[in-house]
Amino acid sequence: MGKNFYLTTTLPYVNADPHVGHALEFVTADIIARYRRLIGDEVFFNTGTDEYGQKVYTKTLEEKKDPQKYVDEYAEKFKKLKDTLNLSYDNFIRTTDEHHKMAAQEFWKRSIANGDIEKKLYKSKYCAGCELEKTDSDLVDGCCPEHREQEIQIIEEENYFFKFSKYQKPLLELYKKNPQFVIPDFRFNEIKRFVERGLEDFSISRLKSKMPWGVPVPDDDEHVMYVWFDALVNYISAIGWPDDLKKFEKWWPVTQFAGKDQVRQQAAMWQAMLMSVGLPLSKQIVIHGFITVDNGKMSKSVGNVISPDDLVAEYGVDALRYYLVRHVHPFEDSDFTMEKFKEAYNANLANGIGNLTARIMKLAETHLDEVPVIPDGTIPQEFEDFLNNFEVNKAVDLVWEHMGDLDKYIQEVKPFSVVKEEKQKGVEIIKNITIKLYTIGRMLNPILPKTSEKIKNAVKQNKMPEPLFVRK
Ligand SMILES: [Zn+2]
Repeated sequence: MGKNFYLTTTLPYVNADPHVGHALEFVTADIIARYRRLIGDEVFFNTGTDEYGQKVYTKTLEEKKDPQKYVDEYAEKFKKLKDTLNLSYDNFIRTTDEHHKMAAQEFWKRSIANGDIEKKLYKSKYCAGCELEKTDSDLVDGCCPEHREQEIQIIEEENYFFKFSKYQKPLLELYKKNPQFVIPDFRFNEIKRFVERGLEDFSISRLKSKMPWGVPVPDDDEHVMYVWFDALVNYISAIGWPDDLKKFEKWWPVTQFAGKDQVRQQAAMWQAMLMSVGLPLSKQIVIHGFITVDNGKMSKSVGNVISPDDLVAEYGVDALRYYLVRHVHPFEDSDFTMEKFKEAYNANLANGIGNLTARIMKLAETHLDEVPVIPDGTIPQEFEDFLNNFEVNKAVDLVWEHMGDLDKYIQEVKPFSVVKEEKQKGVEIIKNITIKLYTIGRMLNPILPKTSEKIKNAVKQNKMPEPLFVRK
């Protein structure tokens, strides 16, 4: 029996064009969404864009642009990825949507009514690059290690604070009760240690006079919400909270995908916020690593940003999906080079699955009078286990293992010779390997949807397909 499965990516912040790092998170989540549908679950897959805050505001001042127009342009760029990456999401939320703003304000009202938000004088060190306050232990030589080029700002003003410190114990209990709450373990340990050290209340508003680009704070004209506070609420506003509780209850709780720079926000801050308004917590949080390029950080100033559009234009969407989920580690940082990409493309797609499909379908087209009867669809349990644990790379490895076995079998039994000497025996072998090819097509459904369709159609029509991947 299928169940309801709600998953979401984080919402990318709209101060940069989509790059291959965004593609990694979207494609991984998409594979899980497609897999869940394949095994009979009803799925709601959410993504979108995070559009308020200092970074966007500063940029629009520099470029003398209207902030709303600016974020509209960026939202379009991210929406386009649906086609480019063949994503199957059900909802694209923008934090500037009216419904989301209303939800963020309602969330605020409930949290303040619960005594978890208070106004006090605020003096802090702040990194505009991260949009995060920094404690001295976060800084290296007075700089944010992620943004050495940005000067740390000292901020002193009246702000609203969220009483994060109150939630240390409940968070630790949550982690204890849910040993799989954060995947992988090393990220889970990281957040446990962070919470164990003690939590500081954090600022959740900005003075409108300095930074007006945010959701207005209810009942206080002078403040707007701090960007994290409103953005995190998207995971519930996307499924109808607070006005469509039937929809909300159908889908909640959520499985979240996020990058390694998001552990604190998603696994601690957001969970404490949910506790504050009395909502059930997230189901699970899956944290991926970063993609480096030639062993360096991808950045506009270095000029090494890899655009998913360029790769897809040259190699096709399934080639990029394949590389991202097999040759990029699901949890650790991985290095991306064009050389490695091309090598993997030729070896495993053009030669691997491409050759195997061509060889089998050539035999089938020549020697089979009818399409073999394909048994009802089962996929190997091991394949499901890997995907249930978000080990996407191992699931893909398994498909290629099946291909390797099939290849070896063909070389050993030589159906092309057998069919010439003993026609009926040869035909049986060819039927058998064609069915095995179809099973591979089935397993590829969540991973390489287009290639999967091509393989399954070829078998069902008993017809050699166009080359799946052209050698480069
Ligand atoms: Zn920073």
